[in-house]
Amino acid sequence: MTLIERHRAVLPNWLALYYADPLEIVSGHGRRVTDSTGKSYLDFFAGILTNAIGYDVAEVSDAVRKQLDSGILHTSTLYLIRSQVELAERIAALSGIPDAKVFFTNSGTEANETALMLATQHRRSNQVLAMRNSYHGRAFATVGVTGNRGWSASALSPVRVSYVHGGYRYRGPFAALSDADYTAACVEDLREVIQTTTSGDVACLIAEPIQGVGGFCVPPDGLYGAFAEVLAEYGILFISDEVQTGWGRTGEHFWGIGAHGVTPDMMTFAKGLGNGLAIGGVVARAEVMDSLTANSISTFGGNPVATVGATAVLDYIADHDLQANAAERGAALLAGLRAIDSPWIGDVRGKGLMVGIELVKPGGKEPAPEAAVAVLEGTRARGLLVGKGGLHNNVIRLAPPMTVTADEVDEALDALAGAVGSL
Ligand code: PMP
Repeated sequence: MTLIERHRAVLPNWLALYYADPLEIVSGHGRRVTDSTGKSYLDFFAGILTNAIGYDVAEVSDAVRKQLDSGILHTSTLYLIRSQVELAERIAALSGIPDAKVFFTNSGTEANETALMLATQHRRSNQVLAMRNSYHGRAFATVGVTGNRGWSASALSPVRVSYVHGGYRYRGPFAALSDADYTAACVEDLREVIQTTTSGDVACLIAEPIQGVGGFCVPPDGLYGAFAEVLAEYGILFISDEVQTGWGRTGEHFWGIGAHGVTPDMMTFAKGLGNGLAIGGVVARAEVMDSLTANSISTFGGNPVATVGATAVLDYIADHDLQANAAERGAALLAGLRAIDSPWIGDVRGKGLMVGIELVKPGGKEPAPEAAVAVLEGTRARGLLVGKGGLHNNVIRLAPPMTVTADEVDEALDALAGAVGSL
């Protein structure tokens, strides 16, 4: 049996694989990975943004190796873990949240589950607001706040969710409006949703500053600041899901929410922080974080291997000013894509190194998911890995490691122009 056949036999049907001929990656260095046939690819999806700073980074490997050499991969979170405390101090300071405390998990899903549990406990309400076209994970509460049918694995979530407009601008009812009018219309919708679908004592709103799985959808700057004013009237907590947008990836700001002029009550994070190691977490106002009165909720969250690795990643981002690199390389990527003339390209959007290309049937806005599949395969054939997403599966997502160079951006643009050109 081939590896694909063995995968299909023993793993769930819903564990989807990219590509008609799925890829097995066996090694990596910098922004390049090599598959089991020896073919090399430039990675412009960073393993779905799990890889913030590239592959085979000596500083991270050395930090993890030193931990392994101690003989301890992990003991228990019942004992003091120096690297966990240090990383928490660091993230609390970076968060801009006054009086912040941090709880570590092993994934973004767990981080959002924890944030939702904290908000519902703190407010003693299971009513929650979420954005249409959102993705926050697929455990029991997070699946409830994921506003995309393709990812809604279960409709039996314990939270009672109302969805609001704002995240996905290209196709929403307010698509034609100016930034200011769009924001005003969304604020009006938020008020109406609170008034008509909740009892007012809502626990929280959870939102991605730029929707990731939803297709790298960028709302107008300031939208969530305007939302926060409404939330404050009701005492509703605001959770910014920074799982994709954190650590400087959006270029302008260290956190995606920075573009909105508001400090959230909580932020959740994961993915890039570990550069492939399993780590996530929540940073929250102390009063909210300490809402739980029971014992801790993770055995592995904040283990030494993950926290020494994550600390090395944060050091690397700061030492190499990767936020500035994300801004510069992202602007070049966006400009290069906008220069590609194709009737299949409906929208090119993004911020920093989160750039999306929405593909449509020529002459209108009808989604073209089959074109997205063709671009995914066409770029692979040209030695480039990209992502796919969006409510209609018609968005190509580009998010290389934040160490990406100008030459690599040009190389990716060539491959993309070639793949889009052959549609
Ligand atoms: N939030 C967002 C915004 C995400 O993009 C993801 C993963 N795609 C998650 C949460 C869930 O993270 P994980 O897969 O680490 O559980």
